[in-house]
Amino acid sequence: MTAAYNAQFAETALATRAIHAGQEPDPTTGAVVTPIYATSTFKQDGVLGLRGGHDYSRSINPTRTSFDEQLAAVEGAKYALSFSSGLAAIDVLLRSTLKPGDNILLGNDVYGGTYRLLAKVFVPWGVGLDVVDITDPQAVEAALAAKPYRYIWVETPSNPLLNITDIALTAELAHKHGAKVVVDNTFASPALQHPLDDGADAVVYSTTKYIGGHSDVVGGAVVLNDPDVRDQVAFLQNAAGAVPSPFDSWLDIRGLKTLDLRVKRHSANALKVAQWLESQPSDVIERVWYPGLESHPGHEIAARQMHGGFGGIVSVQLAAGAEAAKRLVDHTTIFTLAESLGGVESLIEVPAAMTHASVSGTTLQVPDNLIRISVGIEDADDLIADLDQALAQL
Ligand SMILES: *Cc1c(COP(=O)(O)O)cnc(C)c1O
Repeated sequence: MTAAYNAQFAETALATRAIHAGQEPDPTTGAVVTPIYATSTFKQDGVLGLRGGHDYSRSINPTRTSFDEQLAAVEGAKYALSFSSGLAAIDVLLRSTLKPGDNILLGNDVYGGTYRLLAKVFVPWGVGLDVVDITDPQAVEAALAAKPYRYIWVETPSNPLLNITDIALTAELAHKHGAKVVVDNTFASPALQHPLDDGADAVVYSTTKYIGGHSDVVGGAVVLNDPDVRDQVAFLQNAAGAVPSPFDSWLDIRGLKTLDLRVKRHSANALKVAQWLESQPSDVIERVWYPGLESHPGHEIAARQMHGGFGGIVSVQLAAGAEAAKRLVDHTTIFTLAESLGGVESLIEVPAAMTHASVSGTTLQVPDNLIRISVGIEDADDLIADLDQALAQL
């Protein structure tokens, strides 16, 4: 994994970098695919005579390095550090750079697990947490004027309502007040959105979703350009140890190679499904949430900020209410009733009862008649037919 090899691809398009960066054929055998270096330790040539800096796999492993280089290149960033889950990445980024007394400003529609980590772990540790409508620049500006914040936490598109936040505008406001912006880019993925280019200070991923892309690995990553923050994150990554296994890293590498293709198909399918749902009678479908629809309040910003599509997640509120929502998700045959998203197969769930149950009763509570669909890369007409027959059974 030499810098010279990667430099050849610096000026190429994302789809090319995704397949080549960090993927130099193995120098001894010529293996085209990065091996799974299933080893915990490395032979030293004399005390501390390390080969390429390799000493112990919590600290460094070649398969992990390969993925980190590939992801950094895809993002057009200087550094990527991968973790054993998205939440481990979020935890280490925040814990390595915050101290008790610091404040975080959080959007009111974030991943439930992020809210739980902040509210149940960071707040008792002494970090202040305030929640605003992060899509509203006036609300963000008012919050920034009232209190110093270390971080503004942005998820765009958000989960599950697909709210859109203007990253460049939020970064401008934040930087004016000395705050940094972190974007959880899991929903858009680097195939569609580049928060660092728009002024964000760091990006986090759950690679479990679109980057892994096949619902077969749990992982996370922090991507950034600041060398000091990179060192702080790397220190705690090694000190606390929530690193991915070599096999996890290999699955992430394989997934990232096809991200561009997959996310374009996810987006095209999701747009068709969203348009079809929106065309249904209003006594069946109360509201469809998809940033690719002109009816979505964030459509214009999304069209400017996202490139090549609006992502694969569609949320829909059923006119018949919460019980009907629970019945519908039990009647689909192609859509599988399951949590998570971003895999090749279509999934369907009821956030209020499932992924977002932990935010029930908080300001992050979601409508109970809401269904979230992760549109896969099957044939769009088959997906629409499946939803049609499930709706007919209500
Ligand atoms: C899934 C998810 C996470 C958490 O990632 P894990 O890999 O499950 O730990 C964080 N943010 C978003 C937007 C997610 O969808």
